[in-house]
Amino acid sequence: MDRRLFLKEGAAGLAALALSSGTALAGGKTAAGAQESLSSRIRSAGKYDVVVCGGGPAGFIAAIAAARQGAKVAIIERYSFLGGMATMGYVAPISEFAFNGERVIGGIPWEFVQRLEALGGATVQWPKGNVDFDIELYKLCAQRMVLEAGVQLFMRSSLIGCEMEGTRLCSVIIENKNGLESLEAERFIDATGDGDLAFMAGVPMQANPEKELQPSSYCFVLSGVDTDSELLGRYMYHSGKKGGSECTPVRNILLKLKAEGADLPDFGGPWFNSVMHKGSVAVNITRAATDSTDNRDFTAAECRLREDIFRFTDALRRNVPEFRNCYVASTAPQAGIRESRRILGVHTVTADEYVAGVKYDDRVSRGAHQIDMHASKGSGQVLIKLKQAAYVPYRALIAKDFPNLLVAGRCISCDRKALASLRVQASCMGIGQAAGVAAAQSIREARAVQDIDTGALVATLQSLGTLI
Ligand SMILES: Cc1cc2nc3c(=O)[nH]c(=O)nc-3n(C[C@H](O)[C@H](O)[C@H](O)COP(=O)(O)OP(=O)(O)OC[C@H]3O[C@@H](n4cnc5c(N)ncnc54)[C@H](O)[C@@H]3O)c2cc1C
Repeated sequence: MDRRLFLKEGAAGLAALALSSGTALAGGKTAAGAQESLSSRIRSAGKYDVVVCGGGPAGFIAAIAAARQGAKVAIIERYSFLGGMATMGYVAPISEFAFNGERVIGGIPWEFVQRLEALGGATVQWPKGNVDFDIELYKLCAQRMVLEAGVQLFMRSSLIGCEMEGTRLCSVIIENKNGLESLEAERFIDATGDGDLAFMAGVPMQANPEKELQPSSYCFVLSGVDTDSELLGRYMYHSGKKGGSECTPVRNILLKLKAEGADLPDFGGPWFNSVMHKGSVAVNITRAATDSTDNRDFTAAECRLREDIFRFTDALRRNVPEFRNCYVASTAPQAGIRESRRILGVHTVTADEYVAGVKYDDRVSRGAHQIDMHASKGSGQVLIKLKQAAYVPYRALIAKDFPNLLVAGRCISCDRKALASLRVQASCMGIGQAAGVAAAQSIREARAVQDIDTGALVATLQSLGTLI
């Protein structure tokens, strides 16, 4: 069967490469005449059993899980550190490991929390099992665990293409300082959040005819905050024991200012989150309706949100005594993304199934967080409490006709409402663990990812300490 290269639309350098061979790129794919020229410019960076794309909560846990099952694993990450939204978006805390005080996510994700806690970089807030963390120690702990598992790291490397034989992935193409490189593998896990690999490979995506997406928020760290005050003591730690986590007193002050005509943009929360350092908090307040898969749209949103960060900081300084001396110590490497592409998988998890706690035969992970849908415009938010911890089926991690591709994290197959819970980090870690174990199992069984023995998968995951 013919091998074909599929490249991300507008991938840096590749358009020039194709054009220099006299053939334009079309629709995100190389025109036939450019194939040969491009292939000859891509150097092999090795053959692996499993290649994981994306080093966020889903990806780095997936890589550890697959490697511990005996697979030769590589992970590709465009930043110089692991952690995804936790470290590139300053999204805190890690939510939620427990439902009503009972832990429902275990195995490698929980081991990570314990290792981070031992480093002095995490505190678990019970009964919800939300985890406060130190951003820099998170990066260190994730990196140590991935390297200890024997995973080959490809950092500062962007996934920009893939090579396919029909619907089978042969290799992924990355771009870094070495130029263009390809990594071959038996199985691939897309943990890019945006489903970049699945999209390039041609996997059908969930329809979104209304083009509604939850907003993006640019988070930042404020220092000079009176974190010993009653206000911050109440709202900075999210155990659930004292009610909701949004800082209502500050919200009311900002809403009043807006009603009185202050020039303040729409906002969410605000939420003030511990970064485990006296005087500093991670702030989640800005919001913009934007599509993270469109570079121009996302760039414009990030520029506007950076302005907003400083407007809100000024408003807090002037109107909330606990923030009188605050300043922006750091903005996250990028704006946070709540929602973008999700695959149309063998099974799509619906909010009805999720809230009802349907216990699938092929359950591989769980979710404890309430459904938390932020309005794309305005300051609204819809919350639906779960009656019990939910389950995630393996079939939501795979698409129908793609025999060696799994997805993990927020790009799995679910409807918008189910995503509004499943997207939180502990859930993404649990899904990543399942994807890593399933990838290794499907190689051992020499079966397509759609045909593996899911009873054996559930049993392996249970033996690893998952609470499914
Ligand atoms: C504002 C905001 C607030 C939130 N609040 C909470 C909260 O309080 N608690 C909670 O638990 N969760 C929260 N979430 C949700 C959570 O952070 C994310 O849904 C979760 O991190 C998704 O995990 P992931 O591994 O699927 O993707 P990500 O965390 O997005 O990780 C994807 C990784 O892939 C890499 N990547 C992407 N594309 C490429 C590419 N082409 N090449 C190479 N690398 C690539 C990225 O750099 C990143 O490291 C929030 C999210 C936002 C945006």
